[in-house]
Amino acid sequence: MTRIIGIDLGTTNSCVAVLDDKQHPDTLVGADGERTTPSWVSWAASGQVTVGTRARRQAVTNPSATVYGVKRLIGRKVNAEDVAWFARLAPFRIVAAPNGDAWVRVHGQPISPQEVAAHILRRVKQVADESLGEPVTRCVVTVPAYFDDQQRQATRDAGMIAGLDVVRLLNEPTAAALAYGIHRHGGGRRLIGVFDLGGGTFDISIMSVDNGIFEVLATGGDSALGGEDWDRRLVERIVDEVFDQYRVDLTGIPMAMSRLREACETAKKALSTEPEAVIQLPFLANDGSGAPINFERTLTRDQVEGLTKDLMTRLEAPCQRALDDADLEPGELEEILLVGGMTRWPAVEKFVEKFFRKKPSKGVNPDEAVALGAAQYAGILAGESNDAALLDVTPHDIGIKVGDSQFAVVLPRNSMLPVRARRLFATTNENQKFVSIELYQGDSQDVSKNRKLGQVVLDDLTPGPAGSTRVELVITVDVESILSVTAREPKSGKEASVTIRPSGGLSQREIVEIINRRRQEASSQPAPEALSGGVRVTTREHSVHSLKPPTDDKK
Ligand code: AMP
Repeated sequence: MTRIIGIDLGTTNSCVAVLDDKQHPDTLVGADGERTTPSWVSWAASGQVTVGTRARRQAVTNPSATVYGVKRLIGRKVNAEDVAWFARLAPFRIVAAPNGDAWVRVHGQPISPQEVAAHILRRVKQVADESLGEPVTRCVVTVPAYFDDQQRQATRDAGMIAGLDVVRLLNEPTAAALAYGIHRHGGGRRLIGVFDLGGGTFDISIMSVDNGIFEVLATGGDSALGGEDWDRRLVERIVDEVFDQYRVDLTGIPMAMSRLREACETAKKALSTEPEAVIQLPFLANDGSGAPINFERTLTRDQVEGLTKDLMTRLEAPCQRALDDADLEPGELEEILLVGGMTRWPAVEKFVEKFFRKKPSKGVNPDEAVALGAAQYAGILAGESNDAALLDVTPHDIGIKVGDSQFAVVLPRNSMLPVRARRLFATTNENQKFVSIELYQGDSQDVSKNRKLGQVVLDDLTPGPAGSTRVELVITVDVESILSVTAREPKSGKEASVTIRPSGGLSQREIVEIINRRRQEASSQPAPEALSGGVRVTTREHSVHSLKPPTDDKK
């Protein structure tokens, strides 16, 4: 078996890890000595692409061509509420692809988030190739537990564009739990919380772990809250101070803002272990008379806590909501795992302890935990380790549209894969000739808020009064999340079926085009041999006949 690497493709930072010779997971270090790579990609006017720390530095001087937070866009529609929110904030342009997907526009060229993410994945692959001394092609990539099929498939497609075979996707909280060794505790079902505060997002997951089976019971969070908000508060404070003292507005000086942002983040990190830190920025800018401003200021942890009280407050509601969804009290969780670099901030740890009424576990580097867990899972898949039996589950309810806009769930979320569910429906009209069954995935009772997966049409139904004709629907999902749907009229034995592969928004042709373009740009890039996934479902156009809500429920 060839080696499989574990990749944490993060909103702000990405990280790669692998099992070492003793089957211990270890994160790999890039040529720059860093264990994490900022998930930033920048394009020079010449078309040259920069990834990681150097790209992040260019954000201030080349803001419209430096893309970050692409994980917020991958597999999403441009009109989704949080995408629209991100588009308002981002200094680069987010545009609609012909199918409504959110893409970015750089130097006038539309680019899919899959292609941007592929640049990041290619960089972490390079870190792995160099540090292992051999090219790696197979990987496990982690995704948030709440990612739907399209976001998951788009992440797979990004891997393919990067020349990687994404052997499996793994839920981030599951990866963190693996890194913390939760599955080794024995003693039956355990309830745990995974508290993940990274650079740009906050995720809380409530899970049960039972005999190697990880089940996500509830997820919550705040996609607009992370360590960068703490940094921004410090930057804003210092911008005000410099203005008061020198009458100079630093926000108009990109290079000064870039240095200030980095200095504030460094000071924040130092303050997580020290009570005081000094920010020194010689020659930050020039004052009104042209004299250099040599900025120096001592910052205390108390001051930072004072400036960020409201950010701390925002952690509470998502935790409460996730517990409510899982029908649990804070004290019922046996263990809380800290994940994400920002959980190193002492006030965050204190909040977790107070809210969940127990000391959180911190045995693993929080910014590496997800990659380490991915490496462990990769080791299990490669046969290097038989540590845990991990079963995949469906992330969202799968069902059909009934009535005008009701959602009838056929396969509840968290069903263990592979899974099959069967349900009976009845026609609503007299002598109804056909039914057109629309499949959706999502967690809302209002079908319009869920994602349409496809459609299956069963015609030539036996004529009869309304409600007399039964249609049996069987939905099967295999371990690769490929969905097969069969609609059958038991009376006549007539049936119609469709297979739905998750689509990430790009067609196979588009993926091949991107790969070929990349090959031309960098002829040394290895390209994948086989393509899978990305297939769209096409069904006959029919006017839609409604179905009645379920009349029977058999599994
Ligand atoms: P992640 O997305 O998990 O890599 O987390 C990145 C965030 O964690 C950034 O906002 C960092 O500034 C923050 N971070 C990393 N290390 C520390 C630390 N020692 N103290 C406070 N924040 C930190």
